[in-house]
Amino acid sequence: MKRVLVVEDEIKIARLVRDYLNQAGFEVLEAADGPSALSLARAERPDMIVLDLGLPGMDGFDVTRRLRATSSVPIIMLTARSEETDRIVGLELGADDYVTKPFSPKELVARIRAVLRRAEATLGGGEVVRSGPLEIDIPKRRVTVDGAEVELTASEFDLLLVLARQPGRIYTRAQLLDAVRGVSFESYERSVDAHIKNLRRKIEADPKRPELVVTVYGVGYKFSDA
Ligand code: CA
Repeated sequence: MKRVLVVEDEIKIARLVRDYLNQAGFEVLEAADGPSALSLARAERPDMIVLDLGLPGMDGFDVTRRLRATSSVPIIMLTARSEETDRIVGLELGADDYVTKPFSPKELVARIRAVLRRAEATLGGGEVVRSGPLEIDIPKRRVTVDGAEVELTASEFDLLLVLARQPGRIYTRAQLLDAVRGVSFESYERSVDAHIKNLRRKIEADPKRPELVVTVYGVGYKFSDA
């Protein structure tokens, strides 16, 4: 049974999440503040952490930062709907995904399952990534769509590979920029948009309605996990 540590100071929400996760077949550990979350995470090694950003004292960002210093445990943040920059900062600190409040427990469970699936798939780390019509041969740095080879620049290839390796994972522009830094001379985030636009022109059936590389409004991009 997978164990989820829920870090939330609002008792009503914590209870709702716990009951729902129990019903969905997860074992639930609970903490209401940052320090107890960190010590529980160390002692119990949960499979996943659901972390409210707005905690009294040490906030969710501090908790994420400290966790990431020693652990790659998957983290899903709970954020307020209006706090777009919070999501970006959280993802850049190493959180895996976010759910905005108010959320449906059903949505949270679906996200938890998706992130756990991804965490397990990443361990495999094969040499060929396939998704729908797209195939990426990593050692050969070769990309085909419906069997036809497409020519990508080094930056486009690296961007696509980062995204496609973890379908559904949201990346901010800064994270994607990091991924292509070795080959890219431009160092501002909007250059990521330009690369994505070119990439879509080459791999999407209809670049105006992308189905593979999807925009996450106000945050960044992800590879489709549909
Ligand atoms: Ca809170």
